[in-house]
Amino acid sequence: MNDQTVSRKTFDEVMVPCFSPAPFVPDRGEGSRVWDTEGRDYIDFACGIAVTSLGHAHPELLRVLQEQGSKLWHIGNGYTNEPVLRLARQLETLTFADRAFFANSGAEANEAALKLARRVAFDRHGADKFEIVSFTQSFHGRTFFTVSVGGQPKYSEGFGPVPGGITHLPYNDIEAAKRAIGAQTCAVIVEPVQGEGGVIPADPAFLHALREACDAHGALLIFDEVQTGVGRTGHFYAYEDTGVTPDILTTAKALGNGFPIGAMLTTEAIAAHFKVGVHGTTYGGNPLGAALAGKVVELVSDPALLAGVRARGEAIRAKLAKINERFDMFKEVRGKGLLIGAELNARFAGRAKDFNAAAANRGVMMLIAGPDVLRFAPSLIIPEADLDEGFARFEQACNDVIGVAGSR
Ligand SMILES: *Cc1c(COP(=O)(O)O)cnc(C)c1O
Repeated sequence: MNDQTVSRKTFDEVMVPCFSPAPFVPDRGEGSRVWDTEGRDYIDFACGIAVTSLGHAHPELLRVLQEQGSKLWHIGNGYTNEPVLRLARQLETLTFADRAFFANSGAEANEAALKLARRVAFDRHGADKFEIVSFTQSFHGRTFFTVSVGGQPKYSEGFGPVPGGITHLPYNDIEAAKRAIGAQTCAVIVEPVQGEGGVIPADPAFLHALREACDAHGALLIFDEVQTGVGRTGHFYAYEDTGVTPDILTTAKALGNGFPIGAMLTTEAIAAHFKVGVHGTTYGGNPLGAALAGKVVELVSDPALLAGVRARGEAIRAKLAKINERFDMFKEVRGKGLLIGAELNARFAGRAKDFNAAAANRGVMMLIAGPDVLRFAPSLIIPEADLDEGFARFEQACNDVIGVAGSR
């Protein structure tokens, strides 16, 4: 059965059609390069979705995979293991947190955070303090609770009654937040940069206002750093650069560099409400994922690496500015570090997908964030030569879409 011939076409015959993958099939990767099954190469400005932040086949991660892989993969939460204890220590040394819960994905980390916030409010204040405040266009995962909390109604419609007690407010609107957060609020969940929603950074004053409102009303502040975390913004976690400390932080995506792992980080006092049996997971905290994440955290928390993220982010902004001079295609370029969104101007409204497809055709993997925003999330250690070549290819792709006479 192993020699069965499969191709992109097979996808439509064997897979649940909730994705629409690119016409080519990636086969192997090294650093910021990926090759498809036909041997064509791509420069990876996507990293999955901001996941493989240390690139593909990183030698130190391969070594950990082999070492831990030949030692112990899984043991269950009836036992603990050294890699997960070391990982928790590392994350707690780097952050405000002093307790960690491990899961397998961002959605599960958020599910744990939201359940914990509800339980804390229940224990401390009683059954009536359950309201969760979230923001329009936010994204927190695809479990039913997390899509309901997320601010994109299309993801929760058509699945029956949504969980109650969830309020959506406009993002970056301080007055709306001050009006809505009150005695009934148990938690506010916010992305420091909305990723899926269009790469929209939070105004620091907005985050400060959320912190004040939460403190005034005994609500917990949850930062969803699933996309912004683990170095992506040029800080290990984005909150460090906002002057605001959350009560709970969720992290996943880049944490395992592609090995599925997520975490919820919090304080001892809050964590105490998840007593034995109140929450759980089968795979969460397994030694293989924890060992890999431990190496990722060690490598990414290096200040020199983080400075490199900020420098590369500036370099990309300069490249996008030049491309914009040539084609006049962007209304705004925004984001933080190596999470960059370029919003198309009115002339190209709704055409982000076309640019994405043209880029793939020229040998660049990139992302979109909604119909109008091109999203760039390359490896945090992408070599300069790959950045240069990738943007040269991307410029050709823009020319393919826009078709300006006299271009290469
Ligand atoms: C991707 C993402 C999630 C969901 O993570 P999964 O691993 O897909 O469950 C949650 N929140 C944010 C901000 C994300 O970008």
